[in-house]
Order: sequence, then C-alpha cells, then structure tokens
Amino acid sequence: MAPPATREWHPAFEEYCEAIFELREDDLDVIQARIAERLDVSRPAVSEMIRKMDKAGLVTVDAGAIKLTANGAELAESVVRRHRLAERFLTDILGLSWADAHVEAGRWEHVISPTVETAMMSVLGAPTTCPHGNPIPGTDYDAPDAVSLDSLSVGSRFVVSRIPEELEFTPGILDFLEESSLLPGNKGLVTATSPDGTTTVEVGGNRVGIGAFASGRILVTAA
Ligand SMILES: [Zn+2]
Repeated sequence: MAPPATREWHPAFEEYCEAIFELREDDLDVIQARIAERLDVSRPAVSEMIRKMDKAGLVTVDAGAIKLTANGAELAESVVRRHRLAERFLTDILGLSWADAHVEAGRWEHVISPTVETAMMSVLGAPTTCPHGNPIPGTDYDAPDAVSLDSLSVGSRFVVSRIPEELEFTPGILDFLEESSLLPGNKGLVTATSPDGTTTVEVGGNRVGIGAFASGRILVTAA
C-alpha cells in the first residue's frame, strides 16, 4: 500500500532511501558499510536506522543486502527527483558551480513541495537529467548507449554523457571535471591512455588526464 501523499517522512529516512537508490544505480553493493561511507556516518548509526526503516516498511534486509520496498523506492525516487531538479535550477538559473549545486541540492531535496517541484520543472523546460547527466526519476529519460571513458582507444571521439553519482560524492572531482569542461554534451577526443588507467583527453580546448577511478566511471557515447 502506498503511503498517503501528504505523509511526512523524517529527513533521515529520505537521506537513507536516496543513498540506497544511488548505490544501486551505480551497481555498488547495498550493504551497511557502503551506506556508512556514502552518508559519512558510523556503522552503528546505519544499523540502527536500517532497523527503523525495516520496521517502517521502507527496506528489507537479506543476508546483509539492503533493498528498498515499493514504498521505499517511491520515497527514494521523489527525493532523487527533487535533488536532481534542484541541481538543475541551482546551476542553470542561479549560476552555481557543479560542486556547490550538489551540496545545496542536498538541503533543497527535503523541502521542495509538489507545487514548487512542478513550477521548477516548467521553468527549466522539463529536463530529464541533472547537470551531471544523471536521470531525473519520473521523466521520460531515454538512456543512451554509453560506455565508460576508459574503454575507448586513442583517437576515439566521444560525447560526455553522464558523471555517475559516485563521482559526485568524491571530493574535488566535480570541480576538476567542470574546470576541465568534461560536461555532459561536450565533445572530446582520446589522445593517450596509460597502463595506470589514466585516460588523456582533449575537451573544450583543454588537454586533461583523467585518473583511473573517474575514467572508469564517466560514461560517454561515440561521436
Ligand atoms: Zn547531479
């Protein structure tokens, strides 16, 4: 049974549902250790909260693997939608940097009402992704045929498609990628690859080396 639309969830529930949704989206194991890392909280705190969420019917736990129930998924999608929409608003309308928008959106996601959400959607022209290319749940996002940047060979041309959420949470990465013009929609060329996993690309007039962690996760399409 779906919770009534007016039901208010504790922000912590929203935060956890969002984290679980995003770990799953990035194909990471949804276990307590990953959630503790993502939310920067202690393991006992996670364990206590998961117990409460289980009781509230938001998650199930099976041999350590945490899964959202239908109600949990519904809550997660609404929080993720507000987060990504807020990011769009903060960058496109207010001109904030990627990194600042990500942090601010973490607050906005808990307070945007359905009325404001609808108004933002319309002002922004019904976007289907956040500025980093991650899909806004509930929109008609059409996933492109994307591959990781590090799978390309030298000489390949590409269009940046998506900077997964895992990178948004890695300190410094968003600033670096934005300064390097590695933005969704921008075109680039792979100029070198190295055995340590670094992919060197030319994008927006810059030549930058993208380390293994990021180049294994940034998604691009062929140009
Ligand atoms: Zn984003």
